[in-house]
Amino acid sequence: MRLIRRFDRKLRETRMFARAMQSDSHPILAQIVPIRRCNLDCAYCNEYDKTSAPVPLETMLRRIDRLADLGTTIITLSGGEPTLHPDLDAIVRRIRGRGAIATLITNGLLLTPDRIRALNRAGLDYLQISIDNVIPDDVSKKSLRVLDRKLTWLAQYAEFGVTINSVLGAGVRNPEDAIVVGRRARELGFISTVGILHDHGGQLQPLARDQRSVYERFRRLKTSLFSFAHFDHFQENIGRGLPNDWHCRAGGRFLYVCEDGLVHYCSQQRGRPGIPLDQYTVDDIRREAARPKGCAPFCTISCVHQTAMLDEFREHPRETLNGILARRRALDPHFRPPTAVGVLSWLFLNQRRRGLFGKLLVRALRLKRS
Ligand code: SF4
Ligand code: SF4
Repeated sequence: MRLIRRFDRKLRETRMFARAMQSDSHPILAQIVPIRRCNLDCAYCNEYDKTSAPVPLETMLRRIDRLADLGTTIITLSGGEPTLHPDLDAIVRRIRGRGAIATLITNGLLLTPDRIRALNRAGLDYLQISIDNVIPDDVSKKSLRVLDRKLTWLAQYAEFGVTINSVLGAGVRNPEDAIVVGRRARELGFISTVGILHDHGGQLQPLARDQRSVYERFRRLKTSLFSFAHFDHFQENIGRGLPNDWHCRAGGRFLYVCEDGLVHYCSQQRGRPGIPLDQYTVDDIRREAARPKGCAPFCTISCVHQTAMLDEFREHPRETLNGILARRRALDPHFRPPTAVGVLSWLFLNQRRRGLFGKLLVRALRLKRS
């Protein structure tokens, strides 16, 4: 069953990639908040409260439908803590029913074998847990010691993909914990990533020397070529405290929809543009994607970086692919790209071939041109 689900996920991701290459007027990723309340109180977090009621199911379903009508390919439930929502499974089911990839960001505390099986049945595609340390402290209780049993249940029962994110930055007492968490995640067969804590404007707080060294070692943990870690030149610069020269397309290719149903650039730039989702149009998507954001150079919001990387690939495929291969070779001088990458380069890095094979791919994946 796991293999079939995995194959189905990969097929839908390929369709997503092909659509992102074709059109710049639909959101690639939207984060939506079904409940602002959280059962934890991490010291660095500005995205939760202790009192909010869940967004009513009918309202959530209407918002999911609106995102789907705008052509959104990935819909991520975040919070607060989304597993506190009593109708979580119905929301996930609607995301899948509307053809989007369904993902969930959780602190993992409420995961049980039954909860995991219910998410399987609802059709969840990916789940991400952030683990901040090995032993709980006054900054964060999202700790390996607290969550390890949940991770083994995920390894045992989950039919969806699991990503474990560890963190570095101000407030992290023991940077070595990120390596321990990353190793444990890979031992259990999960994807593991490392994020850098941002301040309350989504901006970088430079890493101390010991944290930078842990960051470099983390990047050398074994990953597949297709891991976003190899695409992610943003995180490389951030790890060194350097600005990134990029165009943030938040408000267009990435949307953040709060519990009140307003569209914001991201969780750290709320209020802009602050337009109700049910009034959001393709014109809004195009305008906000094109608008320069002054916060971009030191932004650490990696899911927005990732959507920007797809647009970079669409606009400059040759340079982007060469950059990925160069970064991989910097980590492993003996690296040779797999045959599939060679074939894809041959097909898509030449403009004439790209046009021809692009059309064939669109037909094979039954995509509409937009
Ligand atoms: S678990 Fe997540 S949402 Fe809750 S306080 Fe911690 S970082 Fe914030
Ligand atoms: S650059 Fe974009 S994603 Fe980053 S903080 Fe600013 S608006 Fe948010």
